[in-house]
Amino acid sequence: MASNNSSVGKEIVSYCGKCKKATDHIITSMVTSIRIGKCQCTKCKAVHNYKDPEDALNPKPRKAWKPSEKKSDLSPTIQWQQAIASATGEPRPYAMDAHFAAGDVIDHATFGRGIVENDLGGSKIQVLFETGERTLVHDKCIPVAAPVTE
Ligand SMILES: [Zn+2]
Repeated sequence: MASNNSSVGKEIVSYCGKCKKATDHIITSMVTSIRIGKCQCTKCKAVHNYKDPEDALNPKPRKAWKPSEKKSDLSPTIQWQQAIASATGEPRPYAMDAHFAAGDVIDHATFGRGIVENDLGGSKIQVLFETGERTLVHDKCIPVAAPVTE
């Protein structure tokens, strides 16, 4: 089974990143006697590492991003970008007397766009802004001097 006569100067089909498809290549270097190093595309003349067309066309699925595990490795800006990108709701202007729930997107006059991460209880929410996490007040009963009629 181990018959592999690849060597420098021989033709091989490799995936070409420039052509975006499997094309004929000429081997330009070998890593070991059976492992191809670099090859040159005969179409675009690009020299690159040999890429098995099978692997290139059927990439292995990447591990899904897990917010709870990966969080500490990410900067607040990256976390914020990912949170905003995955948020579905329409942003609402932040107000102390409004009620927010985890997952809500808010627009804060000072901190900008944020996403509610947690309802901390006691009229407090944890909100992730581009600059980092902040605890904000919500659901606050503001005494109304006179009944509002609209
Ligand atoms: Zn090419």
